[in-house]
Amino acid sequence: MTSNIFHQLSEIYMTMDREWEMTASQYGFRCKGCEDNCCKSLFFHHTFIEKAFLLHGFKQLPPNTQEEALSRAGTYYNKTFTGKTARSLKLICPLNQDGQCLAYDYRPMICRLHGLPHELHRPGAATFKGPGCHAGLFDKHKYIPFDRTPFYKKMAQVERLFRQQIRKTEKIKETVAQMLLF
Ligand code: SF4
Repeated sequence: MTSNIFHQLSEIYMTMDREWEMTASQYGFRCKGCEDNCCKSLFFHHTFIEKAFLLHGFKQLPPNTQEEALSRAGTYYNKTFTGKTARSLKLICPLNQDGQCLAYDYRPMICRLHGLPHELHRPGAATFKGPGCHAGLFDKHKYIPFDRTPFYKKMAQVERLFRQQIRKTEKIKETVAQMLLF
Protein backbone atom coordinates (compact mmCIF):
# COMPACT_ATOMS: atom_id res chain seq x y z
CA MET A 1 0.00 0.00 0.00
CA THR A 2 2.68 2.51 1.09
CA SER A 3 5.00 1.56 -1.77
CA ASN A 4 2.24 2.36 -4.28
CA ILE A 5 1.68 5.81 -2.84
CA PHE A 6 5.43 6.44 -2.58
CA HIS A 7 5.61 5.52 -6.26
CA GLN A 8 2.95 8.12 -7.04
CA LEU A 9 4.87 10.71 -5.05
CA SER A 10 8.12 9.81 -6.85
CA GLU A 11 6.38 10.36 -10.19
CA ILE A 12 5.30 13.84 -9.09
CA TYR A 13 8.82 14.59 -7.89
CA MET A 14 10.29 13.40 -11.19
CA THR A 15 7.98 15.67 -13.17
CA MET A 16 8.81 18.69 -11.07
CA ASP A 17 12.56 17.96 -11.24
CA ARG A 18 12.35 17.64 -15.02
CA GLU A 19 10.39 20.87 -15.45
CA TRP A 20 12.63 22.71 -13.01
CA GLU A 21 15.72 21.59 -14.96
CA MET A 22 14.17 22.56 -18.30
CA THR A 23 13.28 26.05 -17.09
CA ALA A 24 16.63 26.51 -15.36
CA SER A 25 18.46 25.55 -18.55
CA GLN A 26 16.44 28.12 -20.51
CA TYR A 27 17.76 30.74 -18.10
CA GLY A 28 21.25 29.24 -18.38
CA PHE A 29 21.06 28.76 -14.61
CA ARG A 30 22.94 26.05 -12.76
CA CYS A 31 22.76 25.85 -8.98
CA LYS A 32 26.31 25.63 -7.67
CA GLY A 33 25.48 26.28 -4.03
CA CYS A 34 26.08 29.73 -2.62
CA GLU A 35 26.33 31.73 0.58
CA ASP A 36 22.57 32.18 0.58
CA ASN A 37 22.17 28.40 0.47
CA CYS A 38 18.51 27.35 0.24
CA CYS A 39 19.31 24.61 2.77
CA LYS A 40 19.70 27.51 5.24
CA SER A 41 16.15 28.72 4.60
CA LEU A 42 13.57 28.15 7.28
CA PHE A 43 11.31 25.95 5.19
CA PHE A 44 8.15 24.41 6.60
CA HIS A 45 6.65 21.34 4.99
CA HIS A 46 2.95 20.61 5.10
CA THR A 47 2.35 17.02 4.05
CA PHE A 48 2.48 13.73 5.93
CA ILE A 49 3.32 11.87 2.74
CA GLU A 50 6.50 13.90 2.25
CA LYS A 51 7.48 13.39 5.86
CA ALA A 52 6.97 9.62 5.55
CA PHE A 53 8.94 9.49 2.31
CA LEU A 54 11.80 11.56 3.73
CA LEU A 55 11.98 9.31 6.80
CA HIS A 56 11.87 6.25 4.55
CA GLY A 57 15.00 7.57 2.79
CA PHE A 58 16.60 8.67 6.05
CA LYS A 59 16.28 5.18 7.55
CA GLN A 60 18.37 3.79 4.70
CA LEU A 61 21.40 5.82 5.82
CA PRO A 62 24.10 4.12 7.92
CA PRO A 63 23.19 4.22 11.65
CA ASN A 64 26.05 6.55 12.61
CA THR A 65 25.09 8.99 9.83
CA GLN A 66 21.52 8.95 11.13
CA GLU A 67 22.71 9.60 14.68
CA GLU A 68 24.84 12.56 13.61
CA ALA A 69 21.96 14.04 11.60
CA LEU A 70 19.59 13.58 14.55
CA SER A 71 22.06 15.34 16.80
CA ARG A 72 22.24 18.25 14.32
CA ALA A 73 18.43 18.22 14.13
CA GLY A 74 18.24 18.58 17.92
CA THR A 75 20.64 21.53 17.88
CA TYR A 76 18.75 23.10 14.97
CA TYR A 77 15.43 22.68 16.74
CA ASN A 78 16.63 24.05 20.08
CA LYS A 79 18.14 27.12 18.48
CA THR A 80 15.29 27.84 16.08
CA PHE A 81 12.25 27.30 18.30
CA THR A 82 11.21 29.01 21.46
CA GLY A 83 7.99 27.26 22.37
CA LYS A 84 5.96 27.38 19.18
CA THR A 85 7.73 30.45 17.82
CA ALA A 86 10.37 29.90 15.17
CA ARG A 87 13.00 32.36 14.04
CA SER A 88 15.21 32.02 11.01
CA LEU A 89 18.85 31.95 12.03
CA LYS A 90 20.04 30.75 8.63
CA LEU A 91 21.13 27.46 10.14
CA ILE A 92 22.00 24.71 7.73
CA CYS A 93 19.45 21.90 7.45
CA PRO A 94 20.49 18.88 9.55
CA LEU A 95 20.35 16.71 6.44
CA ASN A 96 22.95 18.82 4.68
CA GLN A 97 26.34 17.25 5.27
CA ASP A 98 29.38 18.86 3.67
CA GLY A 99 27.17 20.63 1.14
CA GLN A 100 25.31 17.48 0.10
CA CYS A 101 21.75 16.51 0.95
CA LEU A 102 21.90 13.12 2.68
CA ALA A 103 18.38 12.34 1.48
CA TYR A 104 18.55 13.97 -1.94
CA ASP A 105 16.23 11.50 -3.69
CA TYR A 106 13.73 11.83 -0.86
CA ARG A 107 13.87 15.58 -0.29
CA PRO A 108 10.57 17.47 -0.05
CA MET A 109 8.87 19.49 -2.78
CA ILE A 110 9.95 22.91 -1.56
CA CYS A 111 13.62 21.87 -1.67
CA ARG A 112 13.06 20.81 -5.29
CA LEU A 113 11.15 23.88 -6.45
CA HIS A 114 13.28 26.50 -4.74
CA GLY A 115 15.39 28.90 -6.76
CA LEU A 116 13.43 29.67 -9.93
CA PRO A 117 11.04 32.60 -10.38
CA HIS A 118 7.59 31.14 -10.38
CA GLU A 119 3.87 31.72 -10.27
CA LEU A 120 1.14 30.16 -8.20
CA HIS A 121 -2.56 30.38 -8.98
CA ARG A 122 -4.84 30.14 -5.97
CA PRO A 123 -8.62 29.98 -6.14
CA GLY A 124 -10.18 33.30 -5.23
CA ALA A 125 -6.82 35.04 -4.79
CA ALA A 126 -4.45 37.02 -6.94
CA THR A 127 -1.71 35.10 -8.71
CA PHE A 128 1.34 34.84 -6.50
CA LYS A 129 4.68 35.62 -8.17
CA GLY A 130 7.90 34.45 -6.53
CA PRO A 131 11.16 36.12 -7.53
CA GLY A 132 13.66 33.24 -7.49
CA CYS A 133 16.91 33.13 -5.57
CA HIS A 134 19.56 35.87 -5.59
CA ALA A 135 22.22 33.66 -7.15
CA GLY A 136 20.26 33.30 -10.38
CA LEU A 137 20.22 37.08 -11.08
CA PHE A 138 16.78 36.46 -12.54
CA ASP A 139 15.80 40.13 -12.46
CA LYS A 140 18.13 40.59 -15.43
CA HIS A 141 16.11 38.08 -17.49
CA LYS A 142 12.64 38.05 -19.00
CA TYR A 143 10.41 35.80 -16.87
CA ILE A 144 10.15 32.25 -18.20
CA PRO A 145 6.83 30.81 -17.00
CA PHE A 146 7.23 28.28 -14.22
CA ASP A 147 3.86 27.48 -12.72
CA ARG A 148 3.93 25.62 -9.41
CA THR A 149 0.15 25.19 -9.34
CA PRO A 150 -0.07 21.74 -11.03
CA PHE A 151 2.56 20.37 -8.64
CA TYR A 152 0.75 21.68 -5.58
CA LYS A 153 -2.51 20.19 -6.87
CA LYS A 154 -0.97 16.77 -7.49
CA MET A 155 0.68 16.88 -4.10
CA ALA A 156 -2.67 17.70 -2.46
CA GLN A 157 -4.25 14.69 -4.19
CA VAL A 158 -1.59 12.22 -3.10
CA GLU A 159 -1.58 13.70 0.40
CA ARG A 160 -5.34 13.22 0.59
CA LEU A 161 -4.98 9.55 -0.31
CA PHE A 162 -2.16 9.06 2.18
CA ARG A 163 -4.12 10.72 4.98
CA GLN A 164 -7.00 8.34 4.33
CA GLN A 165 -4.61 5.42 4.65
CA ILE A 166 -2.99 6.61 7.87
CA ARG A 167 -6.17 8.20 9.24
CA LYS A 168 -4.74 11.66 9.84
CA THR A 169 -6.89 14.76 9.77
CA GLU A 170 -4.78 17.32 11.63
CA LYS A 171 -2.52 19.84 9.90
CA ILE A 172 1.23 19.47 9.71
CA LYS A 173 3.78 22.28 9.53
CA GLU A 174 7.30 21.05 10.23
CA THR A 175 10.89 21.80 9.35
CA VAL A 176 13.10 18.91 8.28
CA ALA A 177 14.59 18.94 11.81
CA GLN A 178 11.12 18.39 13.30
CA MET A 179 10.36 15.69 10.75
CA LEU A 180 13.44 13.79 11.83
CA LEU A 181 12.90 14.29 15.55
CA PHE A 182 9.16 13.83 16.10
S1 SF4 B 1 16.21 18.19 2.91
FE1 SF4 B 1 18.08 18.22 1.68
S2 SF4 B 1 17.70 19.71 0.02
FE2 SF4 B 1 16.13 20.05 1.62
S3 SF4 B 1 16.97 21.68 2.93
FE3 SF4 B 1 17.58 19.70 3.84
S4 SF4 B 1 19.61 19.25 2.98
FE4 SF4 B 1 18.68 20.86 1.70
